[in-house]
Amino acid sequence: MEQNNLMEKIVSLAKRRGFIFPSSDIYGGITGFWDYGPLGVELKNNIKREWWKNMVYKRDDVVGIDAAIIMNPEVWKASGHIAAFSDPLVECKVCHNRFRADDKEVIINHEKTPHNINGVLVPVEWTDPRNFNLLIRAYLGVVEAQQNEVYLRGEITQGVFANFKNIVSSSRVRVPFGVAQIGKAFRNEITPGHFTFRSREFEQMEVEYFIKPEEEEGEKAFDYWKKERMQWYLGLGMKKENLRFRPHEPDERAHYARSAEDIEYNAPFGWKELEGIHHRGDWDLSRHKIKYQDPDAGEEYTPWVIETSGGIDRATLFFLIDAYSEDKDRVVLKLHPKIAPYKAAVFPLLANKPELISLARKVYDDLRQHFPTAWDDRGNIGKRYYSQDEIGTPYCITVDHQSLEDKTVTVRDRDTTEQKRIAIQKLADYLKDQVYEF
Ligand code: ATP
Repeated sequence: MEQNNLMEKIVSLAKRRGFIFPSSDIYGGITGFWDYGPLGVELKNNIKREWWKNMVYKRDDVVGIDAAIIMNPEVWKASGHIAAFSDPLVECKVCHNRFRADDKEVIINHEKTPHNINGVLVPVEWTDPRNFNLLIRAYLGVVEAQQNEVYLRGEITQGVFANFKNIVSSSRVRVPFGVAQIGKAFRNEITPGHFTFRSREFEQMEVEYFIKPEEEEGEKAFDYWKKERMQWYLGLGMKKENLRFRPHEPDERAHYARSAEDIEYNAPFGWKELEGIHHRGDWDLSRHKIKYQDPDAGEEYTPWVIETSGGIDRATLFFLIDAYSEDKDRVVLKLHPKIAPYKAAVFPLLANKPELISLARKVYDDLRQHFPTAWDDRGNIGKRYYSQDEIGTPYCITVDHQSLEDKTVTVRDRDTTEQKRIAIQKLADYLKDQVYEF
């Protein structure tokens, strides 16, 4: 499939079927902001739930938190974000558009765009790059003259460090341990784009894993988390050939990172960062002047931290892209059943047979108690299959004439299109076996 074409198809499917809409669509949208529709919120929630299950519930060394978006600005001063959370910005001296100087693709494209002054074609000329801070400001307070400037958090990470002492004193965690968090972050991105890939409001899923400040421990933990995170994407069905690691060059590392590698996805617009694994050393805790005292051994030290920081919007987009396939005359989203918005759809074979409808509704009402289930009685069965394939529903259940006689239904598999007859009584358990596993 032609790659640009693929992005157009994804964007159009996302809007048409209720996955992702431009934010404030009725007013022409707002650059860098997106809304998740009825199916998108399910997909995104499923991704978040799978992540939380894997990172918190299945382990005994990670606890979760949910910190506030707005924090005391001292946090951002100490963390270095006010001084160094910036991207290099250049301005085209001809048309005054601004771009990220390190986004080579955008810069080259802009240079290829014809620029005219008084009808004469002129070459693009750039200003020198300057550091543009990405933190978005907001103002608090009811008396205008006394308003306090605050920041919308540029990463969710700092909420963990600022709560480090509270977490240690209120729970049973001991180094090594991790703190997991999911939440929104905001960045005044210079060039938002590629659909939701680079947004100004987005969600992150992160674990900060605290270890003893020892080189060997650091290397071991960094390696371990790299593998864990890659395995998580693979386990949810992302194709191996579309994922890779990329170590950061020393000059692209964030101000806090001792070492950093990205998990990248082979997007239609190039290999792009999906998640970062960062060795932050003791940068953050020491900037916040926090030390750890081991309650058992009594020793005091500043732990190092290995961070896994993934973007949920990027994961959602890349799961959609990865799952998209065109099969003869149908479009199929081959989403892993764990993240598919609906696990099953129920159809009465005919929409004008009351007995069929009533039995189908019973099946539908029952399945909905177990997992998200769709209903469709429009058009013919072929159209209904098409419609469910396009949103990734793994199983379609049809109630037909035989169902009235022997209380069985057909269960059609999205990927193979094969059909089986299953007893209605056993249906929920059968489907749960296919789509659920804690
Ligand atoms: P990039 O180099 O693409 O700007 P980054 O290296 O600044 O990303 P991090 O600060 O490491 O990103 O953030 C961790 C994760 O948060 C990224 O891997 C990505 O998935 C997600 N993320 C960061 N910025 C955005 C954004 N503007 N829109 C959507 N997701 C984002």
